[in-house]
Amino acid sequence: MAVIGDFSCVYVVGLVFRAEDSYTHRHLCEFTGLDAEMRIKEHYSEVMDIVDRVFVKIFDKVNETCQEQLAAIGIQYPFKPLKYLRNTLRLTFEEGIQMLKEAGVEVDPLGDLNTESERALENLVLEKYDTEFFIQHRYPLAARPFYTMPCLDNPAYSNSFDVFLRGEEIISGGQRVHMCGLLESRAKECGIDVKTISHYINSFRYGTPPHGGFGAGLERVVMLFCALDNIRKVSLFPRDPRRLAP
Ligand code: ATP
Repeated sequence: MAVIGDFSCVYVVGLVFRAEDSYTHRHLCEFTGLDAEMRIKEHYSEVMDIVDRVFVKIFDKVNETCQEQLAAIGIQYPFKPLKYLRNTLRLTFEEGIQMLKEAGVEVDPLGDLNTESERALENLVLEKYDTEFFIQHRYPLAARPFYTMPCLDNPAYSNSFDVFLRGEEIISGGQRVHMCGLLESRAKECGIDVKTISHYINSFRYGTPPHGGFGAGLERVVMLFCALDNIRKVSLFPRDPRRLAP
């Protein structure tokens, strides 16, 4: 909505609360999100450009200025420095599937990757490109939320991406549908009653530029940057479905 109001690029770092019913090493009910939305001039790769620049800069800066703190963490939980490229690798979903297939990993070509296949892909990417940080884009439309823009050349895919750090997702993003008609029909196709999201759809009615954005979970970024095995180690007061206090 801020982008519709003519802010060309906006971001927020804030607390996110989720009624997660997930009992994993990487899900909290309260985490810190970094969310950004921006006007797209020509292509959703402009959003991936921002992800690339922001995160390479963050990693560089942390490595440059936090050696003392990283060493302190390393005493308790030894880890190797993150491998990342100057220009972040981008693979299409289809390229990722192809790499997995060639390695003998079975995956649904129009579904989403499960945790095991994400890990397998990370190993293949590390071997081939020597990086632990990469973007996978052009996901199957069926694996993304209703507001994701379908690809113009093939609507089975979408203008969307996930970003992986040491084999786990840290960011989801993509281009949002900005046309009301398409937004309504996509919502219906996904079984959503459009009346329940009328405020969202109505805000698009008087002209909306093409736009996209992403959401990153910062505890996950810290956990994986330091190769830790549990997100609770990087949250001062971790909140999960079983832990409300202290
Ligand atoms: P996952 O598939 O791991 O459950 P998601 O697809 O639900 O994640 P998004 O809704 O796309 O995630 O959120 C964007 C980012 O926010 C994620 O990539 C992740 O870094 C972070 N995130 C999402 N849910 C959680 C959570 N419960 N705890 C910590 N971080 C989270």
